[in-house]
This record gives sequence, structure tokens and C-alpha cells, in this order.
Amino acid sequence: MEKKRFIFDLDRTLLTCDYNIVETRIFEPIFGDETEKLMKDIGPLLDYYEMTHSHYDDEVLSEFLKEQSGLPFTPEIIRGWAREISSDADTMEDGVIELLEHLKSKDKSLVVLTNWYGKSQIPRLKEAGIYDYFDLILTGEDQLKPHPRAYLRAIDGYDPRECFMVGDSVIKDYGAPRLHGIESVLYDKDDVHDKKYVKIKKLTELIKK
Ligand SMILES: [Mg+2]
Repeated sequence: MEKKRFIFDLDRTLLTCDYNIVETRIFEPIFGDETEKLMKDIGPLLDYYEMTHSHYDDEVLSEFLKEQSGLPFTPEIIRGWAREISSDADTMEDGVIELLEHLKSKDKSLVVLTNWYGKSQIPRLKEAGIYDYFDLILTGEDQLKPHPRAYLRAIDGYDPRECFMVGDSVIKDYGAPRLHGIESVLYDKDDVHDKKYVKIKKLTELIKK
């Protein structure tokens, strides 16, 4: 079946910022010496939150992180964090514009399906100059991958077989969409994942497909 809708993950698929630098800058003045340990834990903690919650919420996330890390997280800290991420310079992944231009020229519908806050992600997409390519932008305040609702919202009336997803997460962008009948490809530019996955190293490889 012809693919009509392309669903993109955002972080490390379209745009990448230096998450470590940004987060250390936020957390160090607040948590001091605890920051180093937090920086090791924060990725897995967010993954755990995303598996066990339907959406991001400042209050719920700060309570969760407080409980899990033992650090005095507050909703204000979460808000500052989201603001800071959107204020930092992003690097656009190679081939993004080329791919989006190509898909638009073929009249495809383009969607962003990201787990992080819209208050970070929308300004980042605008700053990068790629916001207008997308017909639909779904962010973590409404639904989280890998929960079914995220993919159902991204499909939004299309036949799942007409949809195609690309992203860098084996579970959220590759495995889970397949459970809902959406063909997917893993963006693995550093070739770190197993050969058993359908992978691309460059986004422009999708133009040839
Ligand atoms: Mg990602």
C-alpha cells in the first residue's frame, strides 16, 4: 500500500541538542554535587516515567522524580528545564531538509510524534525552520510513546498501512508502531543497534525507498 503519512520522532532523529550540557546547567545550581549521579539516572528515569504514565505533566513528573531520585524536584524546576532545552542551539540531523522537501513534493502528510513537552519542541522546530513542513505535531503533554494512543493519534484517520514511522528508539519509534501495523525504520546513524532491525544510517536513504 502506498505510504501517505510519515511520522517522525524529534530528538536525535530531526534535531539534537547537547542534552548533557543543558541539563547540567539547569540542575547543578539546584542539586549541586548530586547532579553527576542525576545525569546518569535521568535518561532511564524518563524512560520509566514514559512507560508508566500516559502523558507529561509538571506536577506529576516532579513528584515522580522526587520519589525516584530523592532530590527535591518541583514543578518550577521542570518548567525551567523545558524552557532551557528550547533555548539551546540544536543541530539538525543530516538530510532532514532534503527528506522533508522530497516528501512534501510528493504530497505526503508529515507528522512529528515526540514525547517531550510542546513548550520545548514547538519553539525548537520553529527555530530550526522546519515547523511548517508538518501537518500535525503531537507532544508529550497529550500522549506518550510507546502507549497505543500515541500511534492511534499519529495515524489520525489514515490506514496504518499507509503510514511509516522513523526514529532512533527501538521501542518507541520502531517496535511499538509495528504492533499497530505501521511500517517503521530505525534511524541508527552510529550503527549501534543489532542487524535484525530494519535500519538506516542516513535519513536521505528514505528518499530512494
Ligand atoms: Mg528520539
